[in-house]
Amino acid sequence: MARSQELEAKGRDIIHLEVGEPDFNCPPNASLAGIRAIASGQTRYLPPAGLTALREVVADVAGRRRGISINPKQVLISPGAKPTMLFSTLALVEPGDEVIYPDPGFPTYEAMLRLAGGIPRPVPLLESNSFSFDLEAFDRLVNERTRLIIVNSPNNPTGGVMPLDDLRHVAEAAQHYGCWVLSDEIYNQIVFDGVRITSIAALPGMAERTVISDGFSKTYAMHGWRLGYGIMPEPLAERVNLLFTHAFGCTAHASQIAAVEAMTGPQDHVGMMVAQYQRRRDIIVDGLNKLTGVQCLKPQGAFYVFPNIQKTGKSSTQIANLMLDHGVALLPGNAFGKHGEGYLRLSYTNSIQNIQRALERMDRALSSLS
Ligand code: PMP
Repeated sequence: MARSQELEAKGRDIIHLEVGEPDFNCPPNASLAGIRAIASGQTRYLPPAGLTALREVVADVAGRRRGISINPKQVLISPGAKPTMLFSTLALVEPGDEVIYPDPGFPTYEAMLRLAGGIPRPVPLLESNSFSFDLEAFDRLVNERTRLIIVNSPNNPTGGVMPLDDLRHVAEAAQHYGCWVLSDEIYNQIVFDGVRITSIAALPGMAERTVISDGFSKTYAMHGWRLGYGIMPEPLAERVNLLFTHAFGCTAHASQIAAVEAMTGPQDHVGMMVAQYQRRRDIIVDGLNKLTGVQCLKPQGAFYVFPNIQKTGKSSTQIANLMLDHGVALLPGNAFGKHGEGYLRLSYTNSIQNIQRALERMDRALSSLS
């Protein structure tokens, strides 16, 4: 990102496919609710766990989406999903505990488990299994010292969705070894081809050992409002609530009012965004598969593609630098863990026109290699 900004400062035209944030505005009804809240003085401190009305709405809507029953006391509202993940990890993981998480995966997982003193146990994702866990590697890693297993489906950076059987496998191991699961479900509404996501928390025996992390950043493109939530067993929520109290106090009042409107108002804005993402996904995957040395799976969720570039004979970093020289900013797969080497991550949170221009530039870049 720093290099692309440097080049732009020199007047170069760069197409940005590196940033993982929606390019859509948030639903106008939610913005208006937030504006009205500010104008009417709803700008006070709130309880650290969140506005009661929002906790009730989340319990109802998030519970129905997953087919589980959720008590509002299990719901904690946080400024973005990240604090929910960090503070539940701090509440659960003691120094020396092992934590399993996806590689390639969202870099925050390793950072937060290390902060808690945990021992990182990255499990490779398998391209041949829609970028789900390599279950044989998982079976070798999980043991009685495992405290927490992090799953993320649909996944950042691959867009992969974990098959139900794989979730069942992880759930059985979690119960066998008595560990917790942190299920990062931030992309659960951004899914394509009619796919339905099952939350691991909905599997038998899992609700009492799962923390669901979700929020408004992706589903409602409300990332700058800073709105996330955690759903977890009540005794854990009480402890995490203490960490919230002393870390950030509460989530912004007006943001929470906007969130109630986003979740209870019309959902057509979400449908529009998902339909757009799906069109872009189809275009970018087709275009990437036409490039020399590139193979790209068609992911069923999120807004990322993770093409394999091993046949170019170059490293992820070399190809990412080459693309930037040709005016396309994207990320090397190894920025998400060592098993991301040999891949690139492209975020299609950009217009179809820009995606098409980027594909032309990438074609020229790869031709320059031969
Ligand atoms: N989990 C994943 C997998 C993400 O990609 C992101 C955002 N990039 C988050 C969590 C954090 O979301 P928030 O902005 O709500 O903190």
